[in-house]
Amino acid sequence: MKLLVIGCGGVASVAIHKCCQNPVFTEIMIASRTESKCVDLAEKLRPTAKAKLFTATVDADNVYSLIELMKEFKPHTVLNVALPYQDLTIMDACLECGANYVDTANFEPEDITEPAWRAAYDKRCKEEGFTAYFDYSWQWAYFDRFKRAGLTALLGTGFDPGVTQVFTAYAQKHYFDEIHYIDILDCNGGDHGYPFATNFNPEINLREVSANGSYWENGHWVETKPMEIKREYDFAGVGKKDMYLLHHEEIESLAKNIPGVKRIRFFMTFGQSYLTHMNCLQNVGMLGTEPVMFEGHEIVPIKFLKALLPDPATLGPRTVGKTNIGCIFKGIKDGKEKTVYIYNVCDHQECYKETGAQAVSYTTGVPAMIGTAMVASGKWRAPGVFNVEEFDPDPYMEALNEYGLPWVVDENPVTVD
Ligand code: NDP
Repeated sequence: MKLLVIGCGGVASVAIHKCCQNPVFTEIMIASRTESKCVDLAEKLRPTAKAKLFTATVDADNVYSLIELMKEFKPHTVLNVALPYQDLTIMDACLECGANYVDTANFEPEDITEPAWRAAYDKRCKEEGFTAYFDYSWQWAYFDRFKRAGLTALLGTGFDPGVTQVFTAYAQKHYFDEIHYIDILDCNGGDHGYPFATNFNPEINLREVSANGSYWENGHWVETKPMEIKREYDFAGVGKKDMYLLHHEEIESLAKNIPGVKRIRFFMTFGQSYLTHMNCLQNVGMLGTEPVMFEGHEIVPIKFLKALLPDPATLGPRTVGKTNIGCIFKGIKDGKEKTVYIYNVCDHQECYKETGAQAVSYTTGVPAMIGTAMVASGKWRAPGVFNVEEFDPDPYMEALNEYGLPWVVDENPVTVD
């Protein structure tokens, strides 16, 4: 099966590494803005890869550049591990060239001042009640076009979004008649030794973390100030950590796809030093997403900051510690209340030894490969646009065990108040 991977950063390097271990992929084209990164990765992987590897340069903001590449390579499936800014152009090119589409993050625009997007955003904020720049409406709107073309688009197959929803579908299938409460807990107990760095693309990460929080309760969104809701949790493999409620994209799809759910919250751990740095950068305007004039040039502060911060793809050798990501479910089984916690613990150094990347890239890249393999092998295939919780979770859960992200089911967990 021919796979086109777009992007060659931290997440892509793990996803491609893992695709090379899976015999479902016979030819892989790695295409990104900077082809030298693709060439370096292909050279590293070729000696052990099961698939034939090719490289190319592509500007994924430009549909024609994508179509040209796809017409030549003729991929069966395209894995988008570039940035969320490129989701729609890549979906358009897939439709034009008859390829299935897979990604790990929902669409957000690079330019939040663009008038058509801004008008739709203002309307959505008023009607839906959450102000995040990213949401699923743009990609869900492609459903009919993918259906008519007989193609599958699988959205958000990283860890969160991604595995967290597969855990939910698995809990729904095997442990509950109805799930009422979902708490998604994302803990990174890793230490990279820098005063401040982000574990994935800094621009996307800081946009997400510095925004208002929100959760889903009784059929509507409740929005909070950034970091307003804090809890402490004792994570297996990591220990006690402070965690904060954030808005996160899978809340939107789970609210739509899990019947009877009453509340969905997402918490992520942050150390005090990270928060102090982030608040300071925010206070001085360095997280700004709109252009400012500086010495006759337009610069976007958060893009300039990205250029100064360590590249997340280089954190692998220096990051020690573990991540623990999972979901606590409360609901009803056979008329009785039940609580189940499904989680994965991942060690930064073990990930580095295997793939050269730290655990945040690893926990995203492995599920990116698994979701792509589900579509490529036909185990998950339906015409239209889907989130991962809409398919049978069992083959995906098996693949997590097989490809390096084993999971644990705890039927007596400590819950979050
Ligand atoms: P990186 O910044 O490390 O990599 C992004 C890659 O995309 C780079 O190779 C970059 O090229 C390439 N790229 C950017 N713009 C274009 C373009 N216009 N045309 C072609 N290539 C382009 O990001 P990460 O690997 O950290 O993240 C990748 C994706 O994974 C993001 O969408 C992120 O939101 C998502 N993610 C999802 C998670 C989940 O659990 N679901 C968790 C973490 C991340 P260049 O090398 O030239 O800069």
